Amino acid sequence: MAQRIPDPEDLKEKALEIHRRLCREYGCPIAYFHDHDPLSELISSLLSHRTRNQDSGRAFQALRRTYPTWETLRDAPTAEVETLIKGVTWPEQKAPRIQAVLRAITERHGTLALDFLDELPVPEARAWLEQIPGIGPKTSAAVLSFSRLRKAALPVDSHHHRVAQRTGLIPRTMDVGPAHVALAALLPPEWDAQTVYDDHEVLMLHGQRCCYFRNPACRRCVLLDLCPTGQALKAQSFGTERTSAEHPAPPAA
Ligand code: SF4
Repeated sequence: MAQRIPDPEDLKEKALEIHRRLCREYGCPIAYFHDHDPLSELISSLLSHRTRNQDSGRAFQALRRTYPTWETLRDAPTAEVETLIKGVTWPEQKAPRIQAVLRAITERHGTLALDFLDELPVPEARAWLEQIPGIGPKTSAAVLSFSRLRKAALPVDSHHHRVAQRTGLIPRTMDVGPAHVALAALLPPEWDAQTVYDDHEVLMLHGQRCCYFRNPACRRCVLLDLCPTGQALKAQSFGTERTSAEHPAPPAA
């Protein structure tokens, strides 16, 4: 059945209500998990694609230990870099891509650093980053939000994207790339960096801990009454819901 096109103001109100409920659930403000300079955050983000945090963290530390500066990583033999990051997915693609991104920054900015992005408004800083092949909207937002720059940029990962689709904040058919613009447009423009970061984190946490890829735990979801997917599953008497070793319920509080 075709989805009804929602009123933009209703969607904004819904996005705020989701933010409020999930912040109560997961405890905002959420602590920042990194304190990297923006160039280090970029390298960390490029390593992390489709990779568990602990594996990308190990690869990042291996690069840190081996190369005293990021210029030496940029100029190192690619095979050596690939070996150092072999714990991440697709090291044979990520090693040359990271080095190409570092070369592109050096060529465009004249030096290998990204601290100058602090002087730019968020849309301009994101556009500057996204002109570099290999940097998409999630990475540009992560660099600005997660690094010491602490800018109000909204990354959208796969968990965040899934919850937004299921709750009807974005259409089911919208890819994660365009979802960055659509979801950011629902947030109050005056929100500060911490609040925008919280919004991403609580939607991501909800995808990890309740709105699982398979078998979302709608029965205990704080968004059930405003979620069309949850309501549809409820109408089927939660026939598809179950917990499993793959998608365990969180421990009791
Ligand atoms: S009600 Fe179900 S589908 Fe909707 S957000 Fe909650 S867990 Fe996900």
